[in-house]
Amino acid sequence: MADWTLDSGCEPTVRVGVVLPEDGDTQVCLDIPGTGYCASVSPAGGQACRPVQGRIVARCAEQGVALEPADHGLGTASRWRIIPPALADDADALCVRVHGVVAGRGFHWQKRIEQCLPGNLEIARVDGGILLVNELPIEAYLKGVITAEMGGECPLDLLKAQCVTARSWMLAGTEHKHDSCGFDYCNDDCCQRYQGFTHLTPSGRHAVDQTRGEAMIHRNGTIIDANYSKSCGGVVEAPGPVWGRHKAGQYAVADAPPDSYARGFLPVTPARLDEYLTGDWLKSCDVFCSPNVVPTDDLARYLGAVDETGEYFRWTVETPREQLESVLHSRFFERSGVGGRDALATLEDLVVTRRGQSGRAIAVTVVYRGRDGRQHIATIVDQYWIRYALSEKFLFSSAFKVEIQRDDAGRADTIRLVGAGWGHGAGLCQIGALGMALQEYDYFAILHHYFERMCVRRVYA
Ligand SMILES: [Zn+2]
Ligand SMILES: [Zn+2]
Repeated sequence: MADWTLDSGCEPTVRVGVVLPEDGDTQVCLDIPGTGYCASVSPAGGQACRPVQGRIVARCAEQGVALEPADHGLGTASRWRIIPPALADDADALCVRVHGVVAGRGFHWQKRIEQCLPGNLEIARVDGGILLVNELPIEAYLKGVITAEMGGECPLDLLKAQCVTARSWMLAGTEHKHDSCGFDYCNDDCCQRYQGFTHLTPSGRHAVDQTRGEAMIHRNGTIIDANYSKSCGGVVEAPGPVWGRHKAGQYAVADAPPDSYARGFLPVTPARLDEYLTGDWLKSCDVFCSPNVVPTDDLARYLGAVDETGEYFRWTVETPREQLESVLHSRFFERSGVGGRDALATLEDLVVTRRGQSGRAIAVTVVYRGRDGRQHIATIVDQYWIRYALSEKFLFSSAFKVEIQRDDAGRADTIRLVGAGWGHGAGLCQIGALGMALQEYDYFAILHHYFERMCVRRVYA
């Protein structure tokens, strides 16, 4: 992936980190189908690839990784490769079942799931833990992304729009979070979700095959570094407030038809925030990601298998002051090294001081009484850290208003955040794109709604 260029005209291969050393696993259990898989030491150094099938446990050993049971005659090596009989066309039918893979790494909903992985598997010992890398052609990889990010039962045009967006982001390749670890992308929300062929459906397969090689090309000739998030909440955020820089092709737009009342909320100003979040207009709004277009009860079958279901378009989170103080303490004050006499004793106020065009907070000032009895202020910047610092469960988004209930003495009692959307809100709105597909917009129309000054073009055969 690292040396792929737009001019090469070839389908790139991707290396995906599935079991990471940070997961702390010293062994991983695999079920290998009896269809001609083999295992070889990597690099092979002239050694034959030995047939392997059935239940295999890869365990950290002193000299590297031991493959058990030993009666396969495999033994221990510093790095193993498990190779399917064919990587190319019929790879869709073949996958290895890997047990106990972490999904939602670091989030409150982290869980372990089984995954069916096509392509090559590479297993090594790194920092005392197992590293399992899945190496496969990008088109096969995308089948595992689009049916993990959204459910495989979604309308075909939503899956196609999701696929072209994910492919564009991959090919633009501007993020290099894992280069030093020997793989291109991890399998989780840190990069984009990938769960192999675990949830692959016929329409997931068609969405990838029918858009093979297609990416969004900006007028400036580059592939669009296309992002996406679950629900914008009504207005798609511009890239600046999220990443601190312009990204060609991404822009702020109301997530609604051209003549919609919602178009008037771009940008969501402080003066209109209340109306945007809780106004009467919501009852009949035509915002693509609203429950009027995608009913909340239907979302469960459209979302990815590990997503929690709930109401994302508008939400309320209420936290007693003492509880929020303890969250702020561990997630903001300790992390940013504010301690000693300045340390938080009593939270007095939370004020959003800067917002993006979708109303997402990008700076929040915490007003508090310190242990020295004096009033202090501290500022949390960046939508990600705001969401992290203000809730044990990681807030759905930073597009919220703050309501503080106070006791008779004016002390904060309960802090209520009333918010909109799920995720950073920039680029393609996944639930909005689903709403558009349900209203029979095709995937070109969906992509042209969320991205500007671009065309969709096939970049390899
Ligand atoms: Zn990652
Ligand atoms: Zn939306």
